Amino acid sequence: MSPHRRRQIQRRRIVALSVFAVGVLVISLAIDAGGGGSSHHTTGASLQPPPIVSLEATVQEDLRRQAAAQNVGIDHVLKYTPFVTSGGGRRKEIALTFDDGPGPYTPQIVNSLKKAHVPATFFEVGFLETYFHAGTRDAARAGDVIGDHTERHAHLGSLPKAAQRDQIDSQAQWLHKLGVPQPRLFRPPYGSFNDTTMALLKKRRMLMVLWSVDSQDYRQPGVGTIVRRVMDGAKRGGIILLHDGGGVRSQTAAAVPIIIKQLRKRGFKFVTVPQMMADDPPPPGQRLPHYISGG
Ligand SMILES: [Zn+2]
Repeated sequence: MSPHRRRQIQRRRIVALSVFAVGVLVISLAIDAGGGGSSHHTTGASLQPPPIVSLEATVQEDLRRQAAAQNVGIDHVLKYTPFVTSGGGRRKEIALTFDDGPGPYTPQIVNSLKKAHVPATFFEVGFLETYFHAGTRDAARAGDVIGDHTERHAHLGSLPKAAQRDQIDSQAQWLHKLGVPQPRLFRPPYGSFNDTTMALLKKRRMLMVLWSVDSQDYRQPGVGTIVRRVMDGAKRGGIILLHDGGGVRSQTAAAVPIIIKQLRKRGFKFVTVPQMMADDPPPPGQRLPHYISGG
């Protein structure tokens, strides 16, 4: 087995475990919430997810206008490439991206970004909206862009067409329910996709967004290591991969304000991925990076 393949399998195990861990966390939180004081909550009824509340109509209207302006960049790039790993590098811009949420740490991360006036891009997993959609709403309201990361963090490259379609569209339907603009960005879980995936994305005018710096924060290597990896990899047009969900993300949440401060000190301007595509798109002829398992 190649080291790359081994790494990939190891990563899949970690993410699967993390998704499971979040499930356990959700259940324990729900049980806690139903415990104290409310004597009628003694059964599984306490696992009721919070009701879906969509964004206010005026906010939805603002977001649609903002998306329409930003989508110009996506449309432009899609004319010559179905995927990107970075921007063009002519401007000193950088994009923070967060995968595998929404989760219990999403509100804290969104808040840090908001306080520092840093727009970011989130690639979210559909089924997690059931419990954590408030974080998605907060992110959208703050001007962050929400992309699609499938309904259940699926390994698309090993699924037939109908299942791949469901994975992509179910997540988009969650966003629709919340009043968040139609996702035009997609990130494949595990970097796994195939020609079928690309055909589905093309039909939906979705741009596949990969990354140029992997912080590997999901392994919880310590706040200092996460910050150092981001700073070591930071370049003009960089797309940084971080995780706000899929497991315990306290280290990422603690690293975000430090990363923002240090990147600012080095003169980087923070943009969303669509903004980067509009301001400073990558040149044609992009090559797929080595970490990608699809093709
Ligand atoms: Zn993921």
